[in-house]
Amino acid sequence: MPGSMSPKEELSLTYVEGLRCRECAHPYPAEALHVCEWCFGPLEVVYDYEAIKGAVSRERIAAGPLSIWRYAALLPAAAEGAVSLGAGFTPLVRADRLAAELGLGELWIKNDTLNPTGSFKDRVVSVALTKAQELGFKVAACASTGNLANSVAAHAAHAGMESVVFIPADLEPAKVVTTAVFGGRLVAVDGNYDDVNRLCAELAGEYPSWAFVNVNVRTYYAEGSKTLAFEVAEQLGWLAPDHVVVPVASGSQLTKVAKGFKELYTVGLLDEEPHVRISGAQATGCAPVAEAFAAGRDVVKPVKPHTIAKSLAIGNPADGPYALDAVRESGGSFGSVSDEEIVAGIRLLARTEGIFAETAGGVTIATLAQLAAAGVVRPDERVVVYVTGNGLKTVDAVAPFCRPTATIAPTLEAFAAAVDISEVP
Ligand SMILES: *Cc1c(COP(=O)(O)O)cnc(C)c1O
Ligand SMILES: [Zn+2]
Repeated sequence: MPGSMSPKEELSLTYVEGLRCRECAHPYPAEALHVCEWCFGPLEVVYDYEAIKGAVSRERIAAGPLSIWRYAALLPAAAEGAVSLGAGFTPLVRADRLAAELGLGELWIKNDTLNPTGSFKDRVVSVALTKAQELGFKVAACASTGNLANSVAAHAAHAGMESVVFIPADLEPAKVVTTAVFGGRLVAVDGNYDDVNRLCAELAGEYPSWAFVNVNVRTYYAEGSKTLAFEVAEQLGWLAPDHVVVPVASGSQLTKVAKGFKELYTVGLLDEEPHVRISGAQATGCAPVAEAFAAGRDVVKPVKPHTIAKSLAIGNPADGPYALDAVRESGGSFGSVSDEEIVAGIRLLARTEGIFAETAGGVTIATLAQLAAAGVVRPDERVVVYVTGNGLKTVDAVAPFCRPTATIAPTLEAFAAAVDISEVP
């Protein structure tokens, strides 16, 4: 029984029962598997929720590490030996000034720009590489739209693993530098993310000892996103929000945020069954899931991405249909926003709340504004918006609009002549 275990024994424990196909429910052992042999559906981790219920409590979680690993009981890898740079437990910031601009009431920003490599990807990578090491993989690899490259290269360096990271060649320069600095192999591919992903699926077949975190270890990787739900509930005093707005690239994050809130109730950490409306955010230049939602379709038709929100530029999203289901089931909606709106969203968040997000954050804030104007996100709701990446990685998007107020000679006269201070107290 967990209650009688030493802290050391508890750290080495997981509550994983096995894997299961998300389509045909065929069961599999919790090994290095990710697709169903019968129907090629993706596999999902299955937990022993009864045992978790007996083992977790709000107090035990509060006494845990200030990282995603405080929720280890609901993750597929053991906290002992975790590959961790401290991902997670990012601030949940009350956003009254932004709420006032948008005509909303209780609004919170989950500020995931403050993760070790500046994006939410540190959550999923920490889980994936911990599991990869448990399974005996020696090499960390991925197909990335940018942030995943940063995170895999950094966590591999920290863990002393070799890394081989694949990116589209047209990525933002900052994301290239902040990956290459960690010293692994960084391969720029002439093509978009969907081309990179296809190549990595082939490479995963050729090199079975490489852990492509979002390909052959994806089943485990994806579970890390549940911590976005766990933390929000804990930070709200063990309450679920009424409505969350989540950015969508492959759709994995959104799907797992939905799963996370449900699990908290299943294992007794929430008193009331949560009814969280989930709305998805995409850029109009790459909005295959939002378009399927708007058209009432179940099929997500692939698109060719053209957007400044490169971290969300997946034209053929692996978890698109599951994200669509999660949004529909929750009573949420989708929005999609133009490049101009994305830039405006970045600047609005910065100006009202002092948080500098990358283009994906601009997508989420602009979608929030769109859904608030349409009355979909309502002033009577407790709303949480996931801001998932740091603005320092996509400075070029806002650079033309963000210049000094004036450039002057170092004299009082020059200052008085150049800067209007009539509104400054
Ligand atoms: C990868 C990414 C997402 C969404 O990822 P999914 O593939 O939908 O899980 C959101 N925001 C940022 C900044 C990202 O890098
Ligand atoms: Zn199957």
